Amino acid sequence: MAARVVKVKRGPELTLWERLYIPEIIRGLAVTSRHFFSNLWGFIIGKPRVATVQYPEQRLEHPAAFRGMPVLVAREDGSERCVACGMCEVACPPRCITIVPEETEGTIERRPKIFDIDLSRCMFCGLCEEACPEEAIVMSADFEIACETREGLIWGKEQLLKPPEQLRRRINYIRDEFNKYDSAKDAPTNVIGATNARLAKPAGEDQRRAGSH
Ligand code: SF4
Ligand code: SF4
Repeated sequence: MAARVVKVKRGPELTLWERLYIPEIIRGLAVTSRHFFSNLWGFIIGKPRVATVQYPEQRLEHPAAFRGMPVLVAREDGSERCVACGMCEVACPPRCITIVPEETEGTIERRPKIFDIDLSRCMFCGLCEEACPEEAIVMSADFEIACETREGLIWGKEQLLKPPEQLRRRINYIRDEFNKYDSAKDAPTNVIGATNARLAKPAGEDQRRAGSH
């Protein structure tokens, strides 16, 4: 069988002016210089015209919807809210969560003996947060997790555990997000946590909310 030859359409030929390159280089330099002097003038008069953030000295406050690394939420007494149900472990697409549960003597019968997240594989997707019925894992605003070894990116329970005050904005955000659906039928299929959050609400709260509108 004869080989099929595909003729690739090339772009239009460059004009002589374009092939000289020098005029285009001068045009590019003119644009760069215009921005440079405009910014320099703004800097001199104290009104910078560029939005460059002098990171890390200067930091932006991220919106509550921002998804940084996942962290564990602590209770007021400092213990983890996690009950080692394993739902986040199952929901995690790259399988970067490892949980080993253990039983407790208290009223909350289970807790994680080991709760590791391999942050070198985590893609900050937030599915663990959505799957969690306990608001025990949430996406924080932290993203500075550089280190020199792969092992250093496997964070354990002690490193992941954060007090709820530090995560209040995100917790309020996910409560608002997950409660926007009136029934499990209306919610996207991945919002398992939303449904669970609604089911976990005290009886009558929905009616009170509906009555207030
Ligand atoms: S954010 Fe996504 S990838 Fe990272 S631990 Fe959670 S589910 Fe896994
Ligand atoms: S889904 Fe929540 S409660 Fe269950 S193991 Fe994960 S963090 Fe813990």
